[in-house]
Amino acid sequence: MHTRGFGDLSSQLEALRDIDMYRSRRQVASRQGRELTIDGRLLLNFCSNDYLGLAGDPRLAEAFKSGVDRWGTGAGASHLICGHTEAHNALEESLAAFTGRERALLYSSGYAANVGVINALLTVGDQVFEDRLNHASLLDGGWISRADFHWYRHNDTHDLADRLTTVDGVRQRVLVVSDGTFSMDGDQCELEGLVELCAAQSSWLMVDDAHGMGVHGKDGTGTVDPARFTSADVPILIGTLGKAFGTAGAFVAGDEVLIETLIQRSRNYIYTTAIPAAVACATSRSLEIVKNEQWRRDHLKSLIRRFRNGASHLPFELMPSESPIQPLVVGDPASTLAVSRHLEAVGCLCTAIRPPTVPEGTSRLRITFTAAHTESDVDRLLEALRGAVAYTVSVSK
Ligand SMILES: *Cc1c(COP(=O)(O)O)cnc(C)c1O
Repeated sequence: MHTRGFGDLSSQLEALRDIDMYRSRRQVASRQGRELTIDGRLLLNFCSNDYLGLAGDPRLAEAFKSGVDRWGTGAGASHLICGHTEAHNALEESLAAFTGRERALLYSSGYAANVGVINALLTVGDQVFEDRLNHASLLDGGWISRADFHWYRHNDTHDLADRLTTVDGVRQRVLVVSDGTFSMDGDQCELEGLVELCAAQSSWLMVDDAHGMGVHGKDGTGTVDPARFTSADVPILIGTLGKAFGTAGAFVAGDEVLIETLIQRSRNYIYTTAIPAAVACATSRSLEIVKNEQWRRDHLKSLIRRFRNGASHLPFELMPSESPIQPLVVGDPASTLAVSRHLEAVGCLCTAIRPPTVPEGTSRLRITFTAAHTESDVDRLLEALRGAVAYTVSVSK
């Protein structure tokens, strides 16, 4: 058989196994919630992004079902052909109002939105500046656009300022891109500094608040408070719907002219089937719950406080995160896997995150909390972590 240049795939897979970097999927046998059934065992779930505990909420399921009854299952075509229903439009209008922007535009995923937006706005000769720890989809968008790509040090507005002086935001398009809440560290971007810098340098700022929306801010509006930061400050705001909102998809919020440009130019918007209208129905219901049930955010905050208090007595390094993402950096992939396996053996599911998702030497447990957890769940996790200390060879502190 001719294997052409692909003959080395299996040896590459073996090499990944050898360095504890092989990834595999687990089959989940229950709906999303504080506990998951995996391999016949019930495990406390400390790794989902379902921050408000809505992914399994019966009210969303009800809205989803009536959406299916009303609209059927598939959207049938892209938004520009005949897939854009009144249900999609109504959700876009609610999301625009929620974020205090003129318009919002639905994408089928956050990944698609990030790549689609950057690629629609930038081309050869333009400049894109990205935080070192930005989500993969933001990096991919920058690379695919063929603009000149610049990194800046994580959350370091001085470093960004130095780098921005090398470009001319009046004669070129300059886009600064940041996660709102960083997905693997849980810290928030230096929004004020970014806004000031971008204004001074005539750059546009794009904030991807995938992990902040629903979780932070008044009514869950996220990292970018619409009462403080207008579309002049943050012209491009991204929210995703598969995390705190408990459904699927994503959106871009901004001025009319941005949204119309994306409708004309964004390939990831134009050349893809619209998400099912029923998903839009469920998300509209979810948005009401996100705004109205402040207790979910309050409860989440108290769980995070309880965890950080307890974990400060353990020999792991806690990161400066006030979000439901509470990473414990272990260091090397093998020890991180060992800790993760120990936790699972005692009933806590918390997957190991390894390079290239995080930088070399910072393999970690990415612990996440949701409003569905109880205080005793947090205590159980702390107890499990206490038992896992022996498996770590490279913990700092
Ligand atoms: C999860 C995530 C995305 C991708 O969103 P999906 O809807 O899951 O494709 C984008 N940006 C960030 C920061 C994320 O964490």
